[in-house]
Amino acid sequence: MPGKADRATRVIALMNQKGGVGKTTTCVNLAAAIAATGRRTLLVDLDPQAHATLHLGVEPGELSERNRGSAYDLLLDPAHDPANTLIEVRNNLSLIPSETDMAAAESELGALPERHERLRSALQRLESAPAGGHEFVLLDCPPSLGLLTLNALAAAREVIIPMQAHFLALQGVGKLLETIQLVRRQLNPSLSVAGVVLCMHDAQTTHTREVVDDLRGFFNAAREQDVPWRFAQVYNPPIRRNIKLAECPSFGQTIFDYAPWAPGALDYRKLGEEIVREWDTMIDMIDARDDASPLSEAEITVLRGSLGATERSA
Ligand code: ADP
Ligand code: MG
Repeated sequence: MPGKADRATRVIALMNQKGGVGKTTTCVNLAAAIAATGRRTLLVDLDPQAHATLHLGVEPGELSERNRGSAYDLLLDPAHDPANTLIEVRNNLSLIPSETDMAAAESELGALPERHERLRSALQRLESAPAGGHEFVLLDCPPSLGLLTLNALAAAREVIIPMQAHFLALQGVGKLLETIQLVRRQLNPSLSVAGVVLCMHDAQTTHTREVVDDLRGFFNAAREQDVPWRFAQVYNPPIRRNIKLAECPSFGQTIFDYAPWAPGALDYRKLGEEIVREWDTMIDMIDARDDASPLSEAEITVLRGSLGATERSA
């Protein structure tokens, strides 16, 4: 019997205004890991560098030859059919690609109405059409806090922050959380921070352990506050530094295509399972309720808090 889960889509923005922290690597391999569990997954590449698009083996330059649109078309033309931009890249995994024109989108959007809500309405149109029906949508953001990232934050339900456990990275996260807070107030009241994924992780050093402890302490101190990171967690497992993860993009392959038994594949596979398990728990709670209304944001965050607590005590 189809449950209410059929109607729920978990939209997650992978965001950090710093470049080179592991956003794209996490977006691509996490999406592939989730898809491999059998869930229909969509990755939207919002970075003009189109790294996620290339990582999945799609040449942005060939899109127009193939008569396909990109995220750029969706942002600039509200009449563009989102289904025209979808590319099936793997089993259960579709891509809305980026192209270099996206760099212009940032400034062109500035002059347009509803410039923050364009991705949100495109995704709503897509998900209610036959081509939609994705259970997970992952948004790969550019390394900035401009209009492309704001579109992602307006369209998402949750944010995952990929970062490296360095002292200076923590300071950047403060700025990022402020932005999320602002977006929640002005554009998207249901936005929350799901947590941090530690990338290129080296658990051996004291410095790393101190930074991770600081981060956990910071999130724990927010449990009683009305902030979007109230129930954020540091996800397990951290993603170890693994050269295979750096090699596979140049072959247009995910880590599961390229080196399925490398440490990077094991880490992303586990992380994918964790993200799916977390979501299933929420969906079970929705299905267990008598009325048809989905969980409120408060219930979801409380639930995430209890999941986070399990993770912390584990
Ligand atoms: P961002 O999208 O935040 O700019 P990327 O995901 O592109 O960051 O990662 C930056 C660089 O680090 C890329 O060359 C990528 O292949 C590499 N990289 C990312 N994660 C790992 C990892 N766990 N181990 C080794 N290299 C990694
Ligand atoms: Mg990137």
